[in-house]
Amino acid sequence: MNAKVALITGSTSGIGLAIAKDFAKDGYITCLNSFEPEQDVAEVIKEVAKESSKEIAYFSADLAIAQNGARLVEAVIAKFGHIDVLVNNAGVQKVSSIEKLSLSDWERVRTITLDASFQTMQAAIPDMVSRNWGRIINIASAHGLVASPYKSAYVAAKHALIGLTKTGALEVAQNGITINAICPGYVLTPLVEKQLKDQMKAHNMSEEEVIEIVMLANQPTKKFIQPQEIASMALYLCSDMARSITGASIVIDGGWTAK
Ligand code: NAD
Repeated sequence: MNAKVALITGSTSGIGLAIAKDFAKDGYITCLNSFEPEQDVAEVIKEVAKESSKEIAYFSADLAIAQNGARLVEAVIAKFGHIDVLVNNAGVQKVSSIEKLSLSDWERVRTITLDASFQTMQAAIPDMVSRNWGRIINIASAHGLVASPYKSAYVAAKHALIGLTKTGALEVAQNGITINAICPGYVLTPLVEKQLKDQMKAHNMSEEEVIEIVMLANQPTKKFIQPQEIASMALYLCSDMARSITGASIVIDGGWTAK
């Protein structure tokens, strides 16, 4: 049987990289993506390739230009003939009060999170429908379900991504395709490390205070989540036993949204 093809957007670091490694290990032809040129991420590609005997391909595409989402999926289909799994993971954060947030920052967060995901889904669904099987996983956030101050663009885009997930799931429910959102709490990745400084400024706190009072205050477990935990869930959602899970927002948030 031909190997399944998985595309994970934003997969050169953090959660996306952990997901890519798990799919590579599980025998998928794994397609990596980020906005960086291939030569800048050669080491990361090698790292993922070590996990697998199947082909690992890298597609440079800046998803801050929404149309690149469709082009990216088209490039994957052109290279491998089909796409079986799409993980919309690329994301950025902007910490700012509403009154200080520029329209361009608002648009950048929204485009990468929401518009590009709409475009990748639109391009992938016809191919999945034609083979009556597909899995789409949108990496949303606990911030797709609840809000925090100073993250208006991110919170709004992630809420909308969950709406897109539910709508897509209903549209393709009879085509062997599931569409789900995973909603992590705080996972210690470069995205969160970058946020620390902005949060220190926004809240006028030290790094330790931000971790304790702002970030982990939300997580009853008082522990950062590991990228591997998100990757394991993504892989499970692609298994046959997960075929009836669709339109769901699966929280992996240390109890945050239970409060
Ligand atoms: P990260 O910064 O470690 O990785 C982000 C990835 O996206 C990188 O590979 C980067 O190259 C890529 N990327 C950024 N801008 C891009 C663009 N314009 N075009 C293409 N690729 C681009 O971040 P992470 O923490 O691993 O986050 C991954 C996803 O998980 C994001 O959608 C984020 O919102 C979500 N998430 C993260 C956390 C967390 O605590 N880390 C919590 C909830 C949700």
